[in-house]
Amino acid sequence: EDQIKTMDTLVDSGRIKKKDSEKTKVTENVFDEATLKALYTLSNKGIIEALGGSISTGKEANVFLADGREDSLAVKIYRINSSTFNSMEDYILGDPRFRDIRHTKKEIVFAWTKKEYRNLLRAHEVGIKVPKPVLTERNILVMEFAGKDEKPYPLLKDVQLEEATAKKVYDILRDYIKRLYMDAELIHADLSEYNVLIETEEMEPILIDMGQSVTPEHPKADQFLRRDIQNIVRYFKKYGIKSDENEFYTFVTKD
Ligand code: ADP
Ligand code: MN
Repeated sequence: EDQIKTMDTLVDSGRIKKKDSEKTKVTENVFDEATLKALYTLSNKGIIEALGGSISTGKEANVFLADGREDSLAVKIYRINSSTFNSMEDYILGDPRFRDIRHTKKEIVFAWTKKEYRNLLRAHEVGIKVPKPVLTERNILVMEFAGKDEKPYPLLKDVQLEEATAKKVYDILRDYIKRLYMDAELIHADLSEYNVLIETEEMEPILIDMGQSVTPEHPKADQFLRRDIQNIVRYFKKYGIKSDENEFYTFVTKD
């Protein structure tokens, strides 16, 4: 009985109420059947107790708040038919960890989901603040919710930092990029003010969105690292932080 209730709640929360042009409420299901099944599996395992509101609707994935057994969780659901599927394939093909996967659309999205899980775990293990990943199920990544009172922490781009705080955040990011490269052997590859949350108690950065992160063997690793560095250097200029991209690159890559 309880199980059925939980499932109904899951299904209901998978429907978003949307106003159409005639201003009548229509219900639209955002999940395909296989994804719903995977959500049921997570519910049956007791990982997810209820699915909360939508946090984000991106190009490749939707992120939802969920109740876990103990803490709040973030549930990132990659869409099988995402528009950026081809670029996903490029990232996966260059990664020696995914040499053996079958290249069907579904398989690639599942591999991508696992890749983000592993990347977050590797980052977490070397002491970088990221949402701690919990598990993956098909195209679903379950991770720690980075926020307070059901509200996600703001993105770096949406906060106004005091000068001293900006310097602190910049220095931590510099350290994270190096640690990621040296210790976790990863390059974020989509680092910018859009993929850094600011934890508002300590005003510390949290890195998110690591599906596309690559190892240094990736043919474009160096290009991605330079772009990550460029983005951070560019963003912190507005806080008066002057830094040299080449010096930054050397700091990251040389012991
Ligand atoms: P996308 O590929 O859509 O950019 P992200 O991983 O960047 O996916 O997540 C999209 C948004 O969802 C983020 O900008 C952030 O606001 C929110 N988000 C992602 N992960 C979490 C998390 N673990 N906790 C809280 N909010 C999150
Ligand atoms: Mn993102």
